[in-house]
Amino acid sequence: QAKAAGRNVVRFFEPEMQARAEMRFMLESELRRAVEQEELRLFLQAQVDARGAIRGAEVLLRWHHPRRGLVPPASFIPIAEETGLIVELGDWVLRRGCALLTHPEIAANSLRISINVSPRQFHHAGFVGRVRDILTETGADPSRLTLEVTEGLVIDKVHQTAATMSELSALGIHFSIDDFGTGYSSLAYLKRLPINELKIDRSFIQDAPEDPSDAALVDTILAMAAHLRLSVVAEGVETQAHADFLAARAEMLYQGYLYGRPAPAEVFIASLAQHRD
Ligand code: C2E
Ligand code: MG
Ligand code: MG
Ligand code: MG
Repeated sequence: QAKAAGRNVVRFFEPEMQARAEMRFMLESELRRAVEQEELRLFLQAQVDARGAIRGAEVLLRWHHPRRGLVPPASFIPIAEETGLIVELGDWVLRRGCALLTHPEIAANSLRISINVSPRQFHHAGFVGRVRDILTETGADPSRLTLEVTEGLVIDKVHQTAATMSELSALGIHFSIDDFGTGYSSLAYLKRLPINELKIDRSFIQDAPEDPSDAALVDTILAMAAHLRLSVVAEGVETQAHADFLAARAEMLYQGYLYGRPAPAEVFIASLAQHRD
């Protein structure tokens, strides 16, 4: 089939693949430096309830590269994951994210903080111990911490996943399944693991108000969550039509551009103070 596509196609893709490989190589070495030289920044995006009150925030990593400018996580998290650098980088995010939990403005509002954890970081030996150390160091309240993991992580190594989750869950930490519905959904693992929350992937929310099949998918996820007594966060809520569609169905938290774009942690916190005054 590749041959049938003709030579032009091959010629077209070769330089692009080479460019990608070079980009990867550069990013890998620069990423090591970025962690050391503090080029990474935590951004926060609000999670609000049906009344619009902020209940928590998700930590989203940003890399301010001195020459390339802002590098989105989609172009460096996968590289960090493949090279193993994610362990160090992920620890850094966890430490900073937990420190945010003790910030007076965050604590006064009893906000939760959600932090993305990648599979390699989660399965790396000593993850539980490092989370414990970070909680002790920062003095963060584990019961206000949510770790977001993906379905892939859960499916891969069920026994190891269950053991790690149980230990962290015993500390009071919550687990959320991120991008729910995009991976291999299985009711079996949802029942067996100490999961507290499902985040409906934004690809289902996008067209749900107009598209009956997407609406049906959202309804199915909400029914599952209700049966398993899991809380729900809808991601990618961009319009009032999205919010209205969801509000008519179930109680949940909303996250998306309608309520605010991810903002630098200090900007997000400053806006909390303004809200309250
Ligand atoms: P995610 O965890 O599913 O995060 C949600 C993504 O959706 C974020 O992209 C956020 O900026 C974006 N988003 C939020 N609201 C809206 C909306 O209304 N419309 C649209 N179109 N997008 C919206 P971002 O910040 O580029 O992050 C992409 C992914 O990178 C994240 O997806 C997460 O998987 C990963 N990531 C980000 N920070 C970290 C981190 O610290 N550690 C790890 N392991 N992964 C991270
Ligand atoms: Mg997430
Ligand atoms: Mg997500
Ligand atoms: Mg997503």
